[in-house]
Amino acid sequence: MTEGIADALMMVKANVPANVTLVAVSKTKPEAAILEAYQAGQQHFGENRPQEMQAKSEALPEDIHWHMIGHLQRNKVKYIISFVYLIHGVDSERLLQEIDSRAASTGRIVDILLQGRIAKEETKYGLEYPELDGLCKQIRAGEYPNIRLRGLMGMATFSDNRDQVRAEFETLASWYKLKKEEMGEHFDTLSMGMSGDYDIAIEAGSTMVRVGSAIFGSR
Ligand SMILES: *Cc1c(COP(=O)(O)O)cnc(C)c1O
Repeated sequence: MTEGIADALMMVKANVPANVTLVAVSKTKPEAAILEAYQAGQQHFGENRPQEMQAKSEALPEDIHWHMIGHLQRNKVKYIISFVYLIHGVDSERLLQEIDSRAASTGRIVDILLQGRIAKEETKYGLEYPELDGLCKQIRAGEYPNIRLRGLMGMATFSDNRDQVRAEFETLASWYKLKKEEMGEHFDTLSMGMSGDYDIAIEAGSTMVRVGSAIFGSR
């Protein structure tokens, strides 16, 4: 099941420039598969289920950086708050409040990304630009002292239409540029690009790609 992970990882890495962080998306995959990638030099892993990520973090090496990449429910923040490296999909004020207060009781400053809604598909989570702008203003005003906004995250429409995907990534990149001017030096992460579209995302300015099936095989 885990055959060839190190090779697949090398092939993906060859397409990812050194200034772009590769997050290996290991959701649903066994710990042995993660360990194989880790032993091949991979340190950043992405999961989308809080309890699964918690269990894996307890079983696997302590210096792994765990990324929460999917939609996060408020009542599950507690499972990951003590160890999560970066929360990608923050898409509401209430979730931001929950992360901030849990971070405070854990004594951590927790890094997050705001998720922008860029896909045409109706089902995707994320903030429209005005909402995203409003949350950035609150953060700048110091309303969430236990979180640190590191940047933006987004998912393009799942489509073979590469022009559409490119246009969606370019939209997020333009929002990122606007916010970067206001938010200062810690705002340095633009998380976009998955197995099927990370090449386009990198061309559009991504600084962090989240790649699962191209490394671990299909789920
Ligand atoms: C599953 C997932 C990925 C990785 O998808 P692949 O197509 O397997 O590379 C990236 N980002 C998010 C938010 C995901 O849920």
